[in-house]
Amino acid sequence: MACGAELNRTRFAPSPTGPLHLGHAFAALTAARLADPGQFLLRIEDIDQSRCRPEYETLIAEDLHWLGLDWLTPVMRQSERREAYQAALDHLAALDLIYPCKCRRADIRAALSAPQEGAEPQIGPDGPVYPGTCRHLQMRDAAPGDALRLNSARALDYLGLTEITFLDENIAPDVPHSLSPQDFITGVGDVVLSRRGMGTSYHLSVVVDDAAQKITLVTRGKDLLDSTYIHVIVQKLLQLETPRYHHHRLIRDDSGKRLAKRDDARALSLYRADGMSAEALRHSLGF
Ligand code: GLU
Repeated sequence: MACGAELNRTRFAPSPTGPLHLGHAFAALTAARLADPGQFLLRIEDIDQSRCRPEYETLIAEDLHWLGLDWLTPVMRQSERREAYQAALDHLAALDLIYPCKCRRADIRAALSAPQEGAEPQIGPDGPVYPGTCRHLQMRDAAPGDALRLNSARALDYLGLTEITFLDENIAPDVPHSLSPQDFITGVGDVVLSRRGMGTSYHLSVVVDDAAQKITLVTRGKDLLDSTYIHVIVQKLLQLETPRYHHHRLIRDDSGKRLAKRDDARALSLYRADGMSAEALRHSLGF
């Protein structure tokens, strides 16, 4: 058990958009290893219904059981959490901290490449930092299905933070990660909290659901480290506790590239079909 007596309650949160590969196995095994007994959860992140498939969800459970993992039930499925996300958005709208965004990707690219914008666009965790085209809009200007963005400058002003901080137990257990509000505004910006037609976004759902599942230790890949600053802000705005974090290394292919869903060659089901034992696979990942 974690010292200080707080239980380590962790989760593995895959999206059923393809077969699990070695990188997922590493993430799931890390989360399960760091959980106290009976405190490991599974969450299906299926907000993007256009890309998710039920057969992948079945395969996820098979692969995880084959790896020797077990989790608390019922399994949370984000596609069933619409009301919780809407309640969070309503709260942020009542604080006047979100606004509708009508921009398509091409509009954003065009705005960023306009000569008067000057300097190279900053790249944040979600890509180029939003240039603020729709920031003047109010929630009463929203059409059904519009994307909703956080007004980051106003949100940080409302919170009155001098630094945005969180603790990562893996990377630097004693030194909090820290970002100034100004660096957040220029380097991350007005992130999307509800994607067009989706009623939520990864950032909003992950915060709402980690709190609902009472996760105390969020384990996930280092590629999401910069997104954590977004999550800390959203947690504070929704008056939710910030959990502890453990961002783990990423599993790479032979050329050093991070494994992605399309790397089906590394699918766990193929190792299984080839007759590899779960023990050998776990061992190859350092477990
Ligand atoms: N669904 C996310 C992924 O597959 C997990 C994100 C998280 O753990 O916060 O990368």
